[in-house]
Amino acid sequence: MPVRAVVSTGQGPAQLTELDDEDLPDGDVTVDVAYSSLNYKDGLAVTGRGRIVRRPPLVCGIDLAGTVAESASPDWSPGDEVVVTGWGLSETHPGGYTERQRLRSAWLVARPPGLTLAQTMAVGTAGLTAMLCVLALEDAGLSAGDGEVVVTGAGGGVGSVAVALLAHLGHRVVAATGRPALHEYLRGLGAADFVTREELARAAERPLESARWAGAIDTVGSTTLASVLRQAAYGAPVAACGLAGGDDLPITVLPFILRGVRLLGVDSVQCPTPRREQAWARLAADLDPDLLDRMTTVEPLTAVPRLAEDILAGRTQGRVVVDVR
Ligand code: NDP
Repeated sequence: MPVRAVVSTGQGPAQLTELDDEDLPDGDVTVDVAYSSLNYKDGLAVTGRGRIVRRPPLVCGIDLAGTVAESASPDWSPGDEVVVTGWGLSETHPGGYTERQRLRSAWLVARPPGLTLAQTMAVGTAGLTAMLCVLALEDAGLSAGDGEVVVTGAGGGVGSVAVALLAHLGHRVVAATGRPALHEYLRGLGAADFVTREELARAAERPLESARWAGAIDTVGSTTLASVLRQAAYGAPVAACGLAGGDDLPITVLPFILRGVRLLGVDSVQCPTPRREQAWARLAADLDPDLLDRMTTVEPLTAVPRLAEDILAGRTQGRVVVDVR
């Protein structure tokens, strides 16, 4: 039976089209997809403005959640509810913006108890990455009560989940946002204070500034991450996962060699399965479902091309679930 899919040909924006079962890729598990989600990388892939899709034509969508329909793997059976994020979906393997997908069994994670399929996609790659950042900060020794923790790009997907998680864990969270209109929303997620996007994005006047942050989660990169590092307190861990403001990092080594600041890189795409399972379990435990609902909107598959433009223009708020059914 034909299924709908958002497909990139590698030239121009991806289009909503129909695919047949014979278009499915190789893999040992076939999943009836219920939900996908919208991430910054999806914006780049669907608009064709970032070099994300490396083997066109390819179904876009870096995330999916659904029910196993067929399995040649002993690890999964028809009826199992599963989640897949990263692993090259929408880059080298067809992704989640479709009603049916075939995948490698090793990529699947069981739906974590405590989250519905829709909620797993409200979390999605963005929320998983936020949790991976929190785990990185905790592994580096950050504890509640250590001081202010700044989250940059706070109004976005990774940022919103990071604010909610850190506040729930007892940290004093400072949200950095370029949208003052989101202050009330971010306060509702647990932000205690705000800095403006401009304040952090400005060019450095000095290689070190007054030490303020006990920890940080940065989704923006470039001059913003550089400011955070210049303002990080002695020994503070800074988790860097994003490049919404640019992929450069204009900084001296002084924060590292004079203050022992620790820059922790976070990747969700190739993240090993045991770490993913740990992160999903923590998300089920530490992310208030009411706050998750508050930061989430649900959109149909047909809206994906418009949403891709919106996320690149910084017009989306929090997380967007794509209902593909
Ligand atoms: P969103 O677009 O939802 O959030 C990004 C936020 O960054 C925006 O909401 C905005 O927040 C801020 N922002 C946007 N443009 C600029 C700019 N030019 N300068 C400064 N701030 C800006 O994206 P996601 O949350 O999905 O992803 C955030 C980043 O993390 C992306 O770069 C993405 O590629 C990366 N990422 C990395 C992953 C990994 O595995 N390492 C996984 C997931 C995401 P506000 O309006 O509040 O200022």
